[in-house]
Amino acid sequence: MLKKLSKIFRKSTPVVSNEPHIIKDGQHPLSPKQISAGARKVVEQLSSDGYEAFLVGGCVRDLMLGLKPKDFDVATDATPEQVNQLFKRSRIIGRRFQIVHVRMGPEIIEVTTFRAHHTDKKSSGNDSRRSSKGLLLRDNIFGSINEDASRRDFTMNALYYHPQDNSIYDYADGLPDIEQRLIHIIGNPADRYREDPVRMLRAVRFAAKLGFQIEDNTEAAITKVHQLLADIPSARLFDEVLKLLMHGHALSTFRLLRQYQLFGILFPATEAALANDPGYYLTFVEQALTNTDIRIRGDKRVTPAFLFAALLWPALKEQEKVFSQGDASPIYALHQAAGEVTTRQCQRVAIPRRFTLPMREIWELQLRLPRRAGSQAFRLMENKRFRAGYDFLLLREDAGEIESGLGDWWTQFQDADEDKRQTMADSVQQPKSKRRRKRRKPPAKNPVHD
Ligand code: ATP
Ligand code: MG
Repeated sequence: MLKKLSKIFRKSTPVVSNEPHIIKDGQHPLSPKQISAGARKVVEQLSSDGYEAFLVGGCVRDLMLGLKPKDFDVATDATPEQVNQLFKRSRIIGRRFQIVHVRMGPEIIEVTTFRAHHTDKKSSGNDSRRSSKGLLLRDNIFGSINEDASRRDFTMNALYYHPQDNSIYDYADGLPDIEQRLIHIIGNPADRYREDPVRMLRAVRFAAKLGFQIEDNTEAAITKVHQLLADIPSARLFDEVLKLLMHGHALSTFRLLRQYQLFGILFPATEAALANDPGYYLTFVEQALTNTDIRIRGDKRVTPAFLFAALLWPALKEQEKVFSQGDASPIYALHQAAGEVTTRQCQRVAIPRRFTLPMREIWELQLRLPRRAGSQAFRLMENKRFRAGYDFLLLREDAGEIESGLGDWWTQFQDADEDKRQTMADSVQQPKSKRRRKRRKPPAKNPVHD
């Protein structure tokens, strides 16, 4: 079907035209039944009130590819306030980019008002703001559907679907690009990245997720402007990093991010450590990402704390070297290094405390897991991070950081009955601890003044 569709098109440049290519009922594989009930209702309600409304973005793209959409987004010419008035259970969210969340039963549908370009005339007022580098600080200038199409990131994301007449409206030649499996930015690539550098991360995410190529010009501009990503607020980068790593293609995403020098902007200390790889850093990180992908594809839970613990492990190991000098104890070096690595990382990607605290516990368990004599092993198993710490240990063994053996011991210990556990714990030789760091002499209680 896609092959046939491409014959309808002649243009190959991603310029938005005023007249869309309309692919009518029967000429494409989509059907309204594939749209969630909530999204259909939102479109119907908006249309019956006289507004234009379409399904747009990832859901149309994914359905054309035969994939299950992650969510259904609606675009309309109704303003956020009008949408908010029309739907009882809705609220306006966001400042930089206002949208409306409409609740329909168990679903939340994102409704976005058509956006326009920021010409000087339209941009006066406080709903549009740009930084001196061209970054869009606010993007709330509303416009027509074709203006909206030109404001979207990639051609494949600028397809509008009308479930009522079962037609697709393609303003930017997105369908031929989908057919050629190309990620093609709309408009001038460097300008579009300058407006919003997160688009570079989105290009990588879609390339990894869909197995698409990034079109040459879209790709070349990344090399020129990749540094602009550092200007994005750390809280937004945290959201984007989660999206990059939690969609089941984290390994290929990581490789592409490194290829386009974006990884070093997101994780500067890890990228620097990878340059000093003692032989296992890269294997370790890639193995952690592979395991994450397997878990996500198997619908198993993945905790971001574990993921960040793994991604920052090379940075931690390098930083530990700095604090292990002299007679510092390993636990002292670990704590100091963990503090330093976490603080610096959060300046770039704001990982919330609910993830950094367990992440640091997973790291600390790496020092505690070898100390399992007597009752220690039993106590360790009670620790709420035990399972994550144990998985992390197995990863380190697999990557060749440490000799295997300890992981096996813990596997057997978990499988054993109480008696066997006791025998195992009794026969462990406690590893010798490194000399403690000298404590500073406490100040004299009654200092003598002369
Ligand atoms: P998925 O939901 O599968 O991750 P998506 O393409 O739907 O992919 P969303 O983040 O849900 O991604 O965004 C919905 C649509 O909004 C996109 O398809 C695109 O048209 C537009 N969009 C999102 N982010 C940007 C951006 N930074 N710049 C321009 N357009 C964007
Ligand atoms: Mg989406």
